[in-house]
Amino acid sequence: MTESKPPIRVRFAPSPTGHLHVGNARTALFNWLFARGQKGSFILRIEDTDVERSQADFERQLLEDIRWLGLDWDEGPDVGGLHGPYRQSERTDIYRKHGMKLVESGHAYYCFCTPLELEADRKTALSQRRQPRYSGKCRQLSREEVSRRRQAGEPASTRLKIPEEVLSFPDLVHGLTRFSPDAIGDFILLRPGGQPAYNFAVVVDDHLMQISHVIRGDDHISNTPRQVAVYRALGWELPQFAHLSTILAGDRTRLSKRHGATSVDHFREMGLLPEAITNYLALLGWSAADGVTEILSREQLTAQFSLAHIIKSPAVFDLQKLFWLNRHYMKGSPLERLVKLSLPVLRSAGYLGEQVGKETEQWLELVLGAVLKNVDHLSQLPDPVRLIFHFDGREAVQAEENKDVIESEDSRRVVDSFCQRVAAAGELDSDKFRALISEVRNETGQKGKNLFHPIRVALTGRTSGPEMDKLVPIFEQGAKLSLPNPVKNCAERAREFARFALKGAAD
Ligand code: GLU
Repeated sequence: MTESKPPIRVRFAPSPTGHLHVGNARTALFNWLFARGQKGSFILRIEDTDVERSQADFERQLLEDIRWLGLDWDEGPDVGGLHGPYRQSERTDIYRKHGMKLVESGHAYYCFCTPLELEADRKTALSQRRQPRYSGKCRQLSREEVSRRRQAGEPASTRLKIPEEVLSFPDLVHGLTRFSPDAIGDFILLRPGGQPAYNFAVVVDDHLMQISHVIRGDDHISNTPRQVAVYRALGWELPQFAHLSTILAGDRTRLSKRHGATSVDHFREMGLLPEAITNYLALLGWSAADGVTEILSREQLTAQFSLAHIIKSPAVFDLQKLFWLNRHYMKGSPLERLVKLSLPVLRSAGYLGEQVGKETEQWLELVLGAVLKNVDHLSQLPDPVRLIFHFDGREAVQAEENKDVIESEDSRRVVDSFCQRVAAAGELDSDKFRALISEVRNETGQKGKNLFHPIRVALTGRTSGPEMDKLVPIFEQGAKLSLPNPVKNCAERAREFARFALKGAAD
């Protein structure tokens, strides 16, 4: 008879106590990639046993962020499944039942020590330079005493008896990992009110949900021996563990909020694309089989992901690299999609009203086409598009950067010739604009930079920016739309600029 392998089942188990940050998002992604690549199941479990810190709003936001990243789950609090409920706060009876089982089998015991006593013991241990751990005082209580005190209603927690032996487990990333029992006292499984401790609930859930691989951050590696002790006490087989490396910031300290943008909702607000984020997260502690490829689509990642290529040493978070990937994915994205994504940013910059019609959206495609290569992400758009939505002839003439143009006789001749022609030309398109420039070249004898530079300044008020060929139709078509900041067409711009720049120019 051949032994059939148990199905691959992995889980992502966030606590709804804050935003989905880089570390947790990477954990979710690795679990998802592994499940999808191995045709297994990806389970979402909400670990909300910390009632004081857990919030329904955080849970909603977490689910939304994971979904936005493009990670879907097969079982979870909203979709159900055979092994639910998937919220720990709804599983209290299950934990109590297993806690009781452990007391009955002699692997756990009731502890009546008060918080004050425990704190005093802890202080004594610290003052004697001993590692604080529970003294085991209540292990010795007789059965009679325990039942008398419980019947009298004395609050009791349930503690696991930690055996005096090394607790070890094979880790797919770190190899065989061992912990001495000295470091681990008899720890609490259930608090006096019946609330489970994390290390207990997680084992009961992983076992009952038939999790085959526990893939999580290595901040949990020191919890794992406690969990191993629970598995042993319950007579359950261990899942396979894979602890992912720590993520450091550029300053080599653990990445945290103080390092700036580190949460998925923040990235989303910045207008980063989800596929850029998942590609980037995949590279934090994992590498493609060839060790060099860095740009990998979701499909390529799914096909290539393997636990064997997880890197043990810490990963360093590099926002610039995320931006680099984002630029790559923006380039390959349909403009229509990018326009939709940039509406909130342009709205909050005051450039768009609440209602944005089809015509404006089509025009915005031209705008993005012209400025996209100047941004790392969409929330940087207000700066490069400013010269489209805002033009003031007087400001342009007075700007320090335009001094050369205003003061040079040759440049002024170009501006004069150009502005007169624009005024007479009617609506411009790229071809008409180019023809007009040839005429100015012929008339003034200027060429190259000396020709283009003054024209750019006259139309945009700036010495640099997107190609004029692209800007001209944007100005002309934008002027026909009704926008909160009306866009000025080329003729208006040229007229305003000439009025302030050229002495004696027609008003
Ligand atoms: N709820 C834990 C956390 O958010 C995860 C526990 C686990 O993956 O075992 O850190």
